[in-house]
Amino acid sequence: MQRYNALSVLWGGLTGQRHWKKVWGEAEPKQHYDVVIVGGGGHGLATAYYLAKEHGLRRVAVLEKGWLGGGNAGRNTTIIRSNYMIEGNTEFYEHSLKLWENLSHELNFNVMFSQRSHLTLVFTPSQRDAMARRYNIMRLNGIDGEFWNQDRLRHEVPHLNFDGGRLPILGAYVQPRAGTARHDAVNWGYARAATALGVDILQNCEVTGFIRKAGELVGVETSRGEILADKIGLAVAGHTSVLAHKAGLGKLPLETHKLQAYVSEPVKPLIDQVIVFGGFGHFYISQSDKGGLVYGGDLDTYNSYAQKGNLPVYADVAAAAMQIFPCLGRVKLLRQWAGVMDMSMDGSPFITKTHIPNLYLNAGWCYGGFKATPGSGHTFAHTIANDEPHWANRLLTLERYREGRLIDESGHGPVPKLQ
Ligand SMILES: Cc1cc2nc3c(=O)[nH]c(=O)nc-3n(C[C@H](O)[C@H](O)[C@H](O)COP(=O)(O)OP(=O)(O)OC[C@H]3O[C@@H](n4cnc5c(N)ncnc54)[C@H](O)[C@@H]3O)c2cc1C
Repeated sequence: MQRYNALSVLWGGLTGQRHWKKVWGEAEPKQHYDVVIVGGGGHGLATAYYLAKEHGLRRVAVLEKGWLGGGNAGRNTTIIRSNYMIEGNTEFYEHSLKLWENLSHELNFNVMFSQRSHLTLVFTPSQRDAMARRYNIMRLNGIDGEFWNQDRLRHEVPHLNFDGGRLPILGAYVQPRAGTARHDAVNWGYARAATALGVDILQNCEVTGFIRKAGELVGVETSRGEILADKIGLAVAGHTSVLAHKAGLGKLPLETHKLQAYVSEPVKPLIDQVIVFGGFGHFYISQSDKGGLVYGGDLDTYNSYAQKGNLPVYADVAAAAMQIFPCLGRVKLLRQWAGVMDMSMDGSPFITKTHIPNLYLNAGWCYGGFKATPGSGHTFAHTIANDEPHWANRLLTLERYREGRLIDESGHGPVPKLQ
């Protein structure tokens, strides 16, 4: 793999930028692999990378029906945090955040991870108490968290609408190590590092079915022909139910919904942190390095595979934005899109073996899976390679539904659109 460093930039500048190599190759499908990962989003690519790097598997392929990062991995608002309070999520998301902290070095690719802190605003004493409980649990688990009272918040984010909205802003719960990263860079970084370790990345290769021999799953049917594999991992986000059904996994505790994201025209630096409304409406916002305000809100709340959203949700998001940042009123919306979410019944993911011996499942990310990318790839690779979970994903199983051990952070119950 070509190393990126200051000297190679300098060398490129002096030699007409002719020495740059392709970041990942265009592999032809082989007949047989040790492991096939279906889905070339961040989770699939990260899994392939850790399978090769940590478990020494070289005959690994990632099969992507479109282009790398064309799914949710390239469509999200890039918020990264680990402010979870229920066992199962707590250790998993903190494991992932720790991997983020060294990811650019690990991949030798700048994923632009920016620990700019994540603020959840509070408006009422009861909301403050509920958040205090969450942040105290986090601190007991060794995860950073603090409370900023109104004075501190006025100092850090002076343009918030403290007293002019429906309720006053009392303060904010803050995770200082949280932040954002560049989504494309994460996909490209993992793809490049995995390719260098011998992983085949096959784009435009849709998995259309599964091959069985004497009742055993032995491979996949794809739009580029049949591919045999000893082990198969599914990491297809909102398309999980479709493939799981074809593979014989039956009905999973998942629903497919869509979530929109919005980016404004670029403006001068205005918002230094990730800020979440957290009150009587849903709205989260940060500012990209190009100056665009990147923001979002709730799901469209009906099942769909369309990668576009509807206007009423935008109206809600805009109303919430105006509650806390009236100064954004005249900023123009530049771009809007949606992604197809794999919403689980308790709002928490699965990284797990299945009842089919060589089939493994990575799904249920709802709208929080970007921050999980390194942790998900790392623990999914461990699960596939060793046939048993890593400590960080040991509770993220499908069995938890059978055993009544739900990991329901929001307390909404089995209503995926509310998770
Ligand atoms: C608008 C929006 C905002 C979000 N904001 C955040 C956020 O701020 N923070 C956060 O942590 N998370 C966020 N998320 C969620 C996050 O983007 C996802 O959870 C995460 O990217 C899932 O990654 P993935 O690799 O599992 O899925 P994807 O990136 O969707 O990858 C799955 C891939 O599988 C491919 N595929 C599907 N079917 C097949 C098939 N039959 N054969 C081959 N390939 C197939 C798809 O083309 C796709 O590329 C957001 C999502 C959206 C849509």
